[in-house]
Amino acid sequence: MALPCPVLPACVNWASAGRFRFLARGWGGEGRTGQSLARAADLCYGTTSMYDNFKRDINYLRVSITDRCNLRCRYCVPKEGLSLIGHDDILRYEEILRIIRIAVTLGVVKIRITGGEPLVRRGVIPFVTAVKAVPGIQDLSLTTNGILLEKYAGELRDAGVCRLNISLDSLNGDKYSHITRGGSLTEVLRGIDAVYKHGFAPIKINMVAMKGFNDDEILAFARLTLDRPYQVRFIELMPLGHTGRDNLGKYLDGETIRMIIESSYPLLPVNGARERSDGPARVFRIDGGRGEIGFISPVSHHFCHLCNRLRLTADGHIRSCLFSEEEIDLKTPLRRGCSDGELEGLIREAIANKPRKHEIRLEDNYLRKCGKDMSAIGG
Ligand code: SAM
Repeated sequence: MALPCPVLPACVNWASAGRFRFLARGWGGEGRTGQSLARAADLCYGTTSMYDNFKRDINYLRVSITDRCNLRCRYCVPKEGLSLIGHDDILRYEEILRIIRIAVTLGVVKIRITGGEPLVRRGVIPFVTAVKAVPGIQDLSLTTNGILLEKYAGELRDAGVCRLNISLDSLNGDKYSHITRGGSLTEVLRGIDAVYKHGFAPIKINMVAMKGFNDDEILAFARLTLDRPYQVRFIELMPLGHTGRDNLGKYLDGETIRMIIESSYPLLPVNGARERSDGPARVFRIDGGRGEIGFISPVSHHFCHLCNRLRLTADGHIRSCLFSEEEIDLKTPLRRGCSDGELEGLIREAIANKPRKHEIRLEDNYLRKCGKDMSAIGG
């Protein structure tokens, strides 16, 4: 039962209480103060936080709605032998919504829709609209390669998507087409323009920086932040699956990327970025620039202590760590007609089993830990 709160007005509704809990992390940080404030909000307003065994508040669910994609990025999808999930094995939208509703009762407040390429799945807009309508969801975002963004920008905005991450690895049309095995840079750039005009903010452009492929474009990407308020984020190539193994030689660490930028543009740290829901990115800006530059370094600087995520794969498995093979099957019980309580128990189990940290390292053997490609897990 909710207790009267001595600090906040009693009329605050559930959603604002959840927001308070979310902000508590901002005010109090990821340490004890943040947790205490989050717990205080739960106590006062009857909301829920799910803490794992390492005191991380698990409030973020990434939902892959398809493993299909309209691109074939070389470091994400194997050249041959890509096995796709059978149509019947992909969760139906109403099944995903049921899982999301249950996850929200356990404390999830942030949802990211991803894939594969989420915009290729039929009915994505009504689905996203339905997710947004789930009481308790405070932050709905989507990750896309941008190819279909020009078409969907307005509808996504109307559906209530707050934030977009767009993956883009080259600003050179030929190179873009090469890395994506046939994608059109023009379409992505038109898509980015469209979301800018529709007023999305922030617009995050994610570039996986790779040695000998696009490291000569790092400055050009950084310069995108001079005139427009984009957040360009440089992401380390992760050693996932076969493609990771094949592309190992292209790995570039975040520190090297930062030094390349700083050789031309000194970077100023942006304070409070994490609380603004920038997740694990370390965020900077170029003096006078309108946008920001982020570094996500899961390999060289793992951020497992901050990890607040669960993933739902397109075939209905909950995965609590990107780099762990451990998954819990929700689809089988769900289709057997199980109760919400059973599903809740399975989600709790995934949270309880969330590893303290991933084991990938740059030394030998670390690849054995992550057999699946990103396309199969959901990015
Ligand atoms: N289709 C959407 C897109 O392109 O953004 C969502 C799915 S995609 C798998 C999500 C993200 O994963 C993309 O930004 C992609 O660059 C990234 N990704 C895939 N494989 C990766 C790897 N081995 N290392 C780092 N990032 C990877």
